[in-house]
Formats: sequence, C-alpha cells, structure tokens
Amino acid sequence: MSELQEQFEKLGHTIIPFGDVSDAVLINTCTVTREADADCRKVIRRAQRVSPNAFIGVMGCYAQLRSDEISAIEGVDAIFGNEEKYKIPELIGDFSKRNQLGLYVGKLEQIEFHGACSSDNVNRTRAVLKIQDGCDYVCTYCTIPAARGGSRSMKFDDLRNKLLELNNTDFYEIILSGVNLGEYKSPTNENFTDVIRLIESLDLKLRFRISSIEPNLVKPELLDIVSKSEKMCPHFHIPLQSGSPDILRLMKRRYKLDVFINLVQKIKSNIPDCCIGVDIITGFPGETDSHFLETYNLLSDLPVSYLHVFTYSKRNGTAASEYPDEVPYPVKIERTHKLRELSERKKKEFYLSQLGKIKTVIKETIDESTGLWHGWTENYVKVYFKMNETNPVEKVKLKSYEKDIVIADII
Ligand code: SF4
Repeated sequence: MSELQEQFEKLGHTIIPFGDVSDAVLINTCTVTREADADCRKVIRRAQRVSPNAFIGVMGCYAQLRSDEISAIEGVDAIFGNEEKYKIPELIGDFSKRNQLGLYVGKLEQIEFHGACSSDNVNRTRAVLKIQDGCDYVCTYCTIPAARGGSRSMKFDDLRNKLLELNNTDFYEIILSGVNLGEYKSPTNENFTDVIRLIESLDLKLRFRISSIEPNLVKPELLDIVSKSEKMCPHFHIPLQSGSPDILRLMKRRYKLDVFINLVQKIKSNIPDCCIGVDIITGFPGETDSHFLETYNLLSDLPVSYLHVFTYSKRNGTAASEYPDEVPYPVKIERTHKLRELSERKKKEFYLSQLGKIKTVIKETIDESTGLWHGWTENYVKVYFKMNETNPVEKVKLKSYEKDIVIADII
C-alpha cells in the first residue's frame, strides 16, 4: 500500500477504483515522455466527465514540472508537487469543489524519502517495493531529476522491517524498484549490494527481482551474489539507450559501450539462463542511419532477451531539447518498429532456449477461455499452465512454444 493511500484511509476516506463516481479524485501523474503528459491530460478530463462534482487534485511529476499546462484544464481544483502530495489533507483541509485553483508546487529541496509498496497483479502475489527515489545523474534527455529531485533512499532498518513484514503476506515475489535503484544509499551508508546481502541473510519465503539497474552500477560483487543466490531472480533489466558511442556521449550517459558489452557477456557466462532486458531510445537528436545501425547490430549480436524501445520526444527544460539535427518523426518511428521486431525475435529465441528446463512459477491470473493460468518464471519467461490446486508457487517444466506463448507442465 502506498504511503498516500495509507494516509487517506487513516483519515477515514474510502479508496475506490479510478473511473467510479467519487467525491474527490486525486490523479498522480508522470512526465517521462510527451505521450505521458498527453495521457495525464486525458485522464484528468475523464475524471471530470465521470465525477463532474468531485474535487479534482493533480499531483506528481507532470504537476511538478508543468503546473501551467494543468491549470489551463477546466475543473482542476488543486495541483500538488512531488513533496506537497504527501501533505494534501493539511494543505487543503476539506475536499469541496473550489472557485479558485490551489497551487501547491514548491522547489524540490531536502526532500524526504517516501516509501511505497503496491501489487501489480490482481491476485496480489507480486509486490513492487520502492526503496529509492530521485536521481543525481544528468542524462540530457531526461526530466526526472527536475521532476523528482535528487537521489534518496529508504532507511536500512526500515527496509529490513518491511521485508520481514512482506514475508508474512501472500506476496511471493518482490520487485525492488527506484528511479535509479543502483544508486541506493541509506542514511547509514549501506549501498545496493548491501541491500542484496541483507536479503540473502534473512530467512524469507520471498523471491526478489531487480526492476532496472544502470550498466555502470552492476558491480562485480553484486553480480557475484545474484549469480549464486536462491532468492534473487536471474533477470537484469538494463537501460542502454543507444548502441552508438557518439550518441551515448551526447546523452551524457555514465558508461562507455564496452562496459555494457562486457556486462552482458559476464552475466550470461555466470548465469546462462539469465534474462536480460534492455531499454533503448530511438531518434535522439543527431542519430544518423549509421548510428542506428550500430545500435541494431549490437543488440542483434548480443545475447539479450528483449528490448523496451522508446521513441525520443523533446522535453522542455532538458539539454537535448536545444540540440540540433532533430530526427524526422517518420524516421524515428521506423527505427522504433525495427527494434520492436528485433525484440520479438530475441524474445522468441530466449523462450525457445528455455524449453525443457524446470523453473518456478508464481501464478497470476487465469485465462477463462482456455482454463490456463499464467505466471512468470524466475528468469522472466511468461508461461501458461494447467493447475487444479491452489498453490501459489509451482515447479514447472517448460514444454512447448505456441503462438508466442510458452506452455508448461506442473511437475
Ligand atoms: S539515470 Fe538518467 S535517465 Fe535515468 S532517471 Fe537518472 S537522469 Fe533520468
């Protein structure tokens, strides 16, 4: 449960699903791409259509950076920045509709860490636990440091207590998350490797997945622990962003290409079944056909398992928004399509390489049309399987690959 939700429930409010008619709607926003901004505006308008008499509050990253755009949307009662969103009840008192917009967006200085834990599936078998927030890096395309502030992390003792608490719930998998997770640094100086050591030292039924980690932050000792661990999932999601050294320099990423290449090879030699996902941005200013080809060929040759491909969009206030040589939109889109096709091929190759293996799956939802359950293995293969029992965790043998899905048998 997020800190915010807990706060409102303690005050006697009932949280209802978004889209139901309500007295007050609080919309938490994102501003990572231009599309995210547009989606936020759509959601605000939808909330007004569904609950025309409700108090409408907008908070989060888009609110922090673009309160001018949000205040232009009719019917918004208040806007809260990323620190102010934790003080909403004391800032506004009651949730009646206002005649005048309340603007509560301050500078992001000396911000505290606010934890959050939520489930990402209906059966509540997997939880996402935020242990770090904000970022001190200066990637030239990114608005996150401005929207979220500098890096801060959960206290180490709080983390230990949270893990023990989660161990007594129905969750079986915890996804460790953060804006720049590998930069975890507790107020008592523990780093991200210490977090993994802590997990290893505790007697837990849970398994853990690292949501995403920068290539320069997968330290040898971290990889070593994950390689030998029974609790850490063999799955790394690594933001590379470009396979061209020129573009990486323009992006001001904190690693050279060979760091990434060596890392992928080392992961696969230590953990042959490891799933490796990669984030890529296409159409960054100055990206020529030959830069793109460098990215494409690199990813095609490396043993990566899937790609998350984002089309570059210019974000006001970032260094890259001033860069020359914008890539025309159709070219950006074509490159995105090509990499998404490559991703499908990579994923299929990875899934096929796993057939015949025995893995552990945590059940998520049932497909009523086939009667098959689906879930994820520790190395991030999505499998479908038949089960009669209600066990949330099962050992399965990956049997066949049919129409993009893997069928498994419980053993
Ligand atoms: S590491 Fe770079 S891309 Fe990631 S949040 Fe920080 S500034 Fe943004």
